[in-house]
Amino acid sequence: MSFDLVITAKKIITMDEKNPIATWVAINGDKIAAIGNETSVPEGKKILDLTDKIVTTGLIDSHVHAAWTGILGSSANLLEATSAKKVLDIVAERCNSTKEDLVLAYGYLPMMMEKGILVTKEDLDKISNGKKIMIINVDMHGSTLNTEALNSLDFPKNIEGVNYETGILSSDTAHFIALMGMLEQIDNEKLEEMMDNFVNQALSLGITTVHALEGQTTKSNKDIRIWQRKLDSLPIHMILYPQIWDYEAAKEFNLPRHGGCLTLDGADVQWTMALYEPYNNKPETRGLLYHSDEEVYSLVSKAHTDGKQCSFHAMGDRAIDQILSIYEQVIKEQGDKKLRHRIEHFTLPTDEQIKKAAELGIVVSAQPEYTYLFDVPGGHLLEYFGKERTERMECYKTWIDSGLVFAGGSDAPVNGLNPLSGIYALVNSTKPGRSMSVTEALKCYTLNCAYAAFEENERGSTEVGKYADFTVLDRDPYLEPEDIVNFKVEMTIVNGKIAYESK
Ligand SMILES: [Zn+2]
Repeated sequence: MSFDLVITAKKIITMDEKNPIATWVAINGDKIAAIGNETSVPEGKKILDLTDKIVTTGLIDSHVHAAWTGILGSSANLLEATSAKKVLDIVAERCNSTKEDLVLAYGYLPMMMEKGILVTKEDLDKISNGKKIMIINVDMHGSTLNTEALNSLDFPKNIEGVNYETGILSSDTAHFIALMGMLEQIDNEKLEEMMDNFVNQALSLGITTVHALEGQTTKSNKDIRIWQRKLDSLPIHMILYPQIWDYEAAKEFNLPRHGGCLTLDGADVQWTMALYEPYNNKPETRGLLYHSDEEVYSLVSKAHTDGKQCSFHAMGDRAIDQILSIYEQVIKEQGDKKLRHRIEHFTLPTDEQIKKAAELGIVVSAQPEYTYLFDVPGGHLLEYFGKERTERMECYKTWIDSGLVFAGGSDAPVNGLNPLSGIYALVNSTKPGRSMSVTEALKCYTLNCAYAAFEENERGSTEVGKYADFTVLDRDPYLEPEDIVNFKVEMTIVNGKIAYESK
């Protein structure tokens, strides 16, 4: 008997406890048919010789805003700009070189601007060359617009967080309305092209499955609609999470899950994370809960009745409490249907919340790149949250040791899409509550993600009968854990097909 494809490698990391390492895997169609360790390799109609490479079970990203990652990937890049002048130079360059009527720029970090001087509407008007300009903060929770762009939007009267003088949008509500307005102004063909760019980017980073959290910043859910049409023909495996507050409106998509990054609170540096105790550097505020308990309860209760998994964004301890209490109440009322309800971010839980989440079978999706980038000595987190709270932020290792299922993700475009930087952060953190073994870290980006979407019997490890998804690396994470972030992805295989190959 001959298999369709046989892959040989220096090492295959399987994520299967019974058989953690192999040297060859045989594939029939899109599924794994046999795995082995012996030097004698079975016959295959095709042989893929990767004997100088390390193959791991395909990596999964459990939290991506896929359409927006595509859109912002093609926008002007402000990540390196540390002064208002530099920002304006980059944006002016784009305004003068593009034919498009709308200029988006992404990666703006107001708090990092030299001398605290921010970009204003007036500055942007001077360089706009007649275009609409929106510059978007790196955390996706604020933006600055020029006059043309502001005029193209329809803000409700008395909305908070819109400064018509400076063009700065400082509330999530205002910023989301602006994003929504801009997305509507990108025509479908262009949008689809950007979405395809996202898929190619993800594949080039070794990602074989994405949990795409879409909607919320569109008027018509057009991103969900486009993805759903393309789903079967995509070279990547995609699970769609519909971020729609209106439960009935989401029914047309006929998905077994509801929500995604539906924001219960805001973000850290915007002082909008819902906290029990005030921010250290803004004692008059303890952040915001955006929705009433009744509204969230109503959504969760309906979804639970229909047997759908739910998912919400909750960063602060007060927001985590809101959603945990509601999950607990609904489970008590309707019974535990093992729906694996999710909490996204889970940035600042208390010990009791971690324990309760584990008891309720909650799945947490968080982004280790956040701590890799920001939790540095003398960094801004300490200023915002103080020592005790910074200590209990994002303790991934404590979570998994408490029995919580933690699925790794990027939150792209808020963070970079590269899963290796997340795995690197998990392995190399200097905090005991965070650092874990290479095997544990890989599990967070494979099997745990598959579990988070009810796919652990189909994906997430290299076992007979599962889909043939692999990420091929140039080096071995067990031998060079301190350099994982710099590994090169040589190839990405999805459903037994080569979906990306490095040149
Ligand atoms: Zn998100």
